[in-house]
Amino acid sequence: MKLRQSFLSALTLVLASTFVNAQDAAALTGPGLPSRKPAVTTDGLERLISRSKLLAHAEQFFSFAQLSNGNRAFGSKGHEATIQYIKRLLDRTGYYDVEFQTFTYPYAESRSQLTVDGKDLLTQAFTYSPGGDVTAPIAIVSNVGCEASDYPTLTGKIALIKRGDCDFGLKVAYAGGAGASGAIIYTNVDTAPSGGTLGQPSRPEGPYVPSAFIHKADGEAFISRINAGEEVVASIHATAISEDRSTSNVIATTKQGDRDNIIVAGAHSDSVPAGPGLNDDGSGSMGILEVALNLAKFKVKNAVRFIWWSAEEFGLVGSEYYVEHLSDEERQKIALYLNFDMIASPNAGFFVFDGDGNATDIPGPAGSEVIETLYRGYFDSHNIRTGSAVFGGSSDYQPFVDVGIPSGGLMTGAGGLKTAEGAEWWGGEAGVAYDRCYHQLCDNLENLFVDAWERNSKAIAYSIATYAQGIEGIPRTPRPPTRTLRVSKLSYEQRLHLTCDHDDDAA
Ligand SMILES: [Zn+2]
Repeated sequence: MKLRQSFLSALTLVLASTFVNAQDAAALTGPGLPSRKPAVTTDGLERLISRSKLLAHAEQFFSFAQLSNGNRAFGSKGHEATIQYIKRLLDRTGYYDVEFQTFTYPYAESRSQLTVDGKDLLTQAFTYSPGGDVTAPIAIVSNVGCEASDYPTLTGKIALIKRGDCDFGLKVAYAGGAGASGAIIYTNVDTAPSGGTLGQPSRPEGPYVPSAFIHKADGEAFISRINAGEEVVASIHATAISEDRSTSNVIATTKQGDRDNIIVAGAHSDSVPAGPGLNDDGSGSMGILEVALNLAKFKVKNAVRFIWWSAEEFGLVGSEYYVEHLSDEERQKIALYLNFDMIASPNAGFFVFDGDGNATDIPGPAGSEVIETLYRGYFDSHNIRTGSAVFGGSSDYQPFVDVGIPSGGLMTGAGGLKTAEGAEWWGGEAGVAYDRCYHQLCDNLENLFVDAWERNSKAIAYSIATYAQGIEGIPRTPRPPTRTLRVSKLSYEQRLHLTCDHDDDAA
């Protein structure tokens, strides 16, 4: 490998020196001359992945979010700018067939602002919370507000309710039923509130009212003031959007390479409505983009297809659409799928998808264990320990897994807490979320842990270079003719929750 590498470098040098200027030299590895490009090698591709280029993309992604209220949710201006940017850079290489695969899906977004004493509090909104402006004194609801009897008459009041024991929607409906003009729920643990949903209206307990989700400390501060006899007046400013949106997956396939053995790598291009999504999943999107742009300097044996999924955050909508629309023949031609969703978490762990299922009891389709071994070997060789990520259905690998395509991938962790062992292995803080800005406004440029991001992007390059040259060990046996994707059986509501932290659901 080393020998071949230096031979190729020498060859490139000799050839380059026959050109008059640097521009001509660049043309040697540019578009239009695929036959003269060197065959891709793991070292060759990995070496081209640089943090400065990743960061330059990140600046762009962040600026796109500013086009639409600070987020890149599917179908928004910020998201549209994201996918146009990806397509433009890929088109420029001349190396890929790039297409938009367009579909329509219902979009729902709620925003809430809570203001007390002229101060805006850290607030999250619940999906299906109605829009409206309410100003009223806060009244405390007993217990955790899971029984109608916990609610006094609340006419002209905003109900203050503790999280836990039953779902958010029941609490807000009870508050509405008791006559409240608004409802505030505060967390029962010491973590920032993340998004949640009230569940689709309507409910027998009462009407939904404008609502807000706040931190435990803020809720408890109100309670002590009220218990001391003070009147605390709050204002809720809530907006709600519900509309069908058209959006697209970006699909880029190398013009060269064997299209009967396609290597597919994916990341989702959309963010949650709550924030710019630089780690989730800007990091994966930019990671595969940088690998794709550099792969264009090489020759491949197998075709490589990079896909940027849309509407992942609404329940794997883009990846489901793609897999569902593959013919049996096309499905058979996909050799394997690699998923990269969150690869730059600020308190990162290094997780490899558990292809053989020996750590999580959920194996991927046959061949997935080969992908797992490749990544574990990669990190071993860089003296980085690896944890196991589970094929639990919360990202775009799932439709591929469902139809029997060998799958794998990497991630650095979402809202879960890093263990003591994890902190020993990877540094960072035990007992703190891998990404404390998961699905929040603060998933911005500062939230990217560039060391982890660069390492994982290099690991992507390593895997793409490996499989672009051969898929030894990956079975190419005919796949079962299953067409049923797990995600298709879920309701809109359940799908929306697929990509949430499940500890946010009710308790
Ligand atoms: Zn994600």
